[in-house]
Amino acid sequence: RSIGTMLQHWARERPNSTAIAVEGAQSRTFAEWLQRSSAIANGLRARLGIRAADDRRAQPVIGFIGKNAVTWGEVMAAASLTGACAVPLNWRLSRRETAQIVEDSGVAAVVAEAEFLPLLGYAVPEDGRDRLIVYGSEPQDFENWLADQTASGDFASPEREDIALMVYTSGTSGRPKGVELSNRSISVNLSSEVPWDIRPGDVVMVPAPNFHLSGTGWIFYCLAVGAASLHVLEIVPEKVLDIFASGGVHHALTVPAVVHALVQHPTARERTYPELRTLIYGGSPMSPTIADAAAETFGCDLVQSYGMTETCGPITFLGPEDHRRGGARLASAGRATSVVEMGIFDPMTAQRLPDGEVGEVWTRSAMLLSGYRNQPEELAAVLRPDGWFRTGDVGYLDGDDYLFLCDRAKDMIVSGGENVYPIEVENVLMEHPGVAEAAVIGVPDERWGETVKAVVVRADRAPEVTEEELAVFCRERLAHYKCPTSVDFTAGLPRNPSGKILKKDLRRPFWEGRERAIG
Ligand code: ATP
Ligand code: MG
Repeated sequence: RSIGTMLQHWARERPNSTAIAVEGAQSRTFAEWLQRSSAIANGLRARLGIRAADDRRAQPVIGFIGKNAVTWGEVMAAASLTGACAVPLNWRLSRRETAQIVEDSGVAAVVAEAEFLPLLGYAVPEDGRDRLIVYGSEPQDFENWLADQTASGDFASPEREDIALMVYTSGTSGRPKGVELSNRSISVNLSSEVPWDIRPGDVVMVPAPNFHLSGTGWIFYCLAVGAASLHVLEIVPEKVLDIFASGGVHHALTVPAVVHALVQHPTARERTYPELRTLIYGGSPMSPTIADAAAETFGCDLVQSYGMTETCGPITFLGPEDHRRGGARLASAGRATSVVEMGIFDPMTAQRLPDGEVGEVWTRSAMLLSGYRNQPEELAAVLRPDGWFRTGDVGYLDGDDYLFLCDRAKDMIVSGGENVYPIEVENVLMEHPGVAEAAVIGVPDERWGETVKAVVVRADRAPEVTEEELAVFCRERLAHYKCPTSVDFTAGLPRNPSGKILKKDLRRPFWEGRERAIG
């Protein structure tokens, strides 16, 4: 299966069903999508001489930069039809970072929304004439260009190991890496059993940006089953609640930061959401307090997924049953999917660890990346010759194969020889009514090497919480060495576009000029 072949299938089976839409803007049926992607594919072939290469290493790369997921869907499928690889570029980066990624990815052509030309270093579209196709400012240009292309022709038949997509990691722990994902990875991911029931004609709300695997992955999840993806550009809790309540959405993908904002909204509990069947969240840890609140507020199924760009999608799910049962398992990321192997290993000895013991999460499957663009040494550091991929996440399995993630290895704090997992401390802080958000980091300490510091955003509608109060609150609930020895209050935490807290940014001022043992 490839994105192109799935689109061809649904354009035959359900030509007039809505396939992809942007909230408040365009929408396309499967037939329109295929028609436009075919025209883009022919346009790229004619104008830029892009065609499938015989040598996979020379596969052409087509970039996309823009907020519009409909256009991105069209470009992604066009790339698939020409046997090229598509790469969505992150428009939240700086000009310098963007230049690095453009260079690293080796794009032959970029389809760009006009507002991002400066980010690409072009003052006017003509500057990039050779390899730039602009849409947006004068939409007519793009539409005219498309109208000049034929929508028929022979398209590439997808090869299993062709790279369909290249997605840059979030850069939460370092510089973003270009993860090469093949048709094989995508097909295997799509063949996995899933804890949701998405049917042809359903609408799935996707608030994630195109340049993250979650945003793009949901385009092909929906395409695989003939459902429609509805992309929302700006997450305004009020608006999202309106969409949920209006009944136009059957499943919604979210990240914990969004779930949090939704359940805390003053009107969230005043409405009902009869059509909403599943709320899917993942990408970063979510406190069980919020999961409970979400189940109560929305009255729908909850699903948590855990995965990373390198695994081309989720490797574990915590399904609706487990959410209904509640209890300790709400803090778990669930069990491995049917198409992956997962285990906990000692990263030093490569020994598999017994249940209950904390170690590094490793996974092995045909979903894994083909490589990191231009960084074979980075790949060698995480992908072992025996096929196990080291996730960099630390956790343990309970006796029933449920994965409990402790934290990223790089965020772990070692204080006086004891390991402290920030997430555990953050979850306790989040239970305090005066805390809206919390991040816990390790800061240098003469005596202990590192000590635990909390950075807290106070809750609006609660009486102002103090450092003292939080210290007492933590001491009643956590071992002494895990309790924050200092608390800073802030108006907001630094997050990347997927809502992940950038701990490296929080840590930086404290570690200036010093070497941290981990990370
Ligand atoms: P980089 O690799 O550049 O540092 P990143 O790891 O944040 O960035 P992604 O591939 O987008 O890039 O994110 C995968 C990571 O997100 C996982 O390794 C894990 O740390 C975290 N994560 C994903 N899902 C969950 C979840 N359900 N619970 C906790 N953490 C999660
Ligand atoms: Mg990562």
